[in-house]
Amino acid sequence: MTDAFAPPGAWYFPMIAFLFGACIGSFLNVCVSRWPHDQSVVKPRSRCPKCGHEIPWYENIPLVSWVALRARCSGCKNPISPIYPLLELVVALGWLGAELHYGATLTAFRVAVLGTILLGIMITDATHYVIPDGFTVFGLIWIILTAFAAIFLNSDSAFAGPYDAMMGALTGAGAIAIAGWLGEAALKREAMGFGDVTLMAVVGAALGPQRALLTVFMGAALGVVVFLGIVLPANRMRARARRPDGTGVATLPLVPFGVFLAPGAIIVLFYGDTLIHWYFTRFIAS
Ligand SMILES: [Zn+2]
Repeated sequence: MTDAFAPPGAWYFPMIAFLFGACIGSFLNVCVSRWPHDQSVVKPRSRCPKCGHEIPWYENIPLVSWVALRARCSGCKNPISPIYPLLELVVALGWLGAELHYGATLTAFRVAVLGTILLGIMITDATHYVIPDGFTVFGLIWIILTAFAAIFLNSDSAFAGPYDAMMGALTGAGAIAIAGWLGEAALKREAMGFGDVTLMAVVGAALGPQRALLTVFMGAALGVVVFLGIVLPANRMRARARRPDGTGVATLPLVPFGVFLAPGAIIVLFYGDTLIHWYFTRFIAS
């Protein structure tokens, strides 16, 4: 007797989600390292940045290869950054979490993909002040197509329906463009990049108009707190260190706003309706 044809056990879909997530995480490594430099993610094959050793497929297996190679390039024996397997693990756990929470559903798939895109945007915006079109163009198309798919599959979720998705994309992009324009007028310098506009189109498509505005508000609040609390004092201190008399005028550092908008969007996806309901019952209806 063999149990080869037995129905899959409870572990089956979570395991698939984890392994698939690890592969997506591996691809995300390629995206976040190449897109900020306008390089293709398809070719050339990955090489060791130190010796140029071309990495064969069996040295490129997510999580496994880094451990098997003992974190060293097989060509030059220089260490391979733990950032690579760490990102693979984070994405794998994210996909696993989506499966465990929503089951093997379209909603789990949509949450996992959106979370992966937003994570990639946080990384490139934090490291290069860039929000690549690769993330946002794919994200916008993906969200609108899956909004239609959700109707056909009768899948109810926190994501906006197709009409709200399109209205949300316009609202999100418009709101952040206006915020950036006013910020620019107030600060007399560029306050926000066009990447933030494309990011908010994606977020607005996922959340719809009302929750898109809530995300801009949350992202701005989060950004202002971090900017005034951490970035500005640190910058002042550095400027003072340069000029002993302390008169050094600190140049305002750029704020990678996407770093705050992306997690804001995830919080609003999960808790936005609760927050809006709380706000309206407390401050408007009474
Ligand atoms: Zn090498």
